[in-house]
Amino acid sequence: MTDRSPDRDDPVHARDRLVLDVMLGKLATFLRMCGYDAVYALDRELEADDRILALARTEERTLLTRDRELAARADDSVLLSAPDPVEQLRELRAAGFRLELAARPARCGRCNGVAVAVDTDEPTPEYAPDAAEADVWRCRDCGQCFWKGSHWDDVAETLADL
Ligand SMILES: [Zn+2]
Repeated sequence: MTDRSPDRDDPVHARDRLVLDVMLGKLATFLRMCGYDAVYALDRELEADDRILALARTEERTLLTRDRELAARADDSVLLSAPDPVEQLRELRAAGFRLELAARPARCGRCNGVAVAVDTDEPTPEYAPDAAEADVWRCRDCGQCFWKGSHWDDVAETLADL
């Protein structure tokens, strides 16, 4: 669950549950940072078209793919043509997707797990800042910690330049 309250009449927010086909892993990371619930097929060990379609259907996810035939078989899909993730973001924006960083991280960029705030007195791993000095989040699934550091700024810049 995210703490945003999506408006179901808004076509953009109605498409906030996604499944991304193989080769779109980098795009999945961007979309997670924008707050999308973005499953990457390879993270679920899904490679066969039928299994990806089955997941899209059972979990009511919009399929993002560069495969025209696969896109045509899905209930809801967005066909991307560019091989480059930044170009793919432009295609998504043209398709009406909201692309800006979430005010607070909702999803782990690495695995799509739900991000939870680390308490100020909780210890953080070596690679992360002290939670008393910066807002730090931890992925409930893989344990990865993240914060609004230079990577966050780089992504914000990429999105602003689309
Ligand atoms: Zn994670």
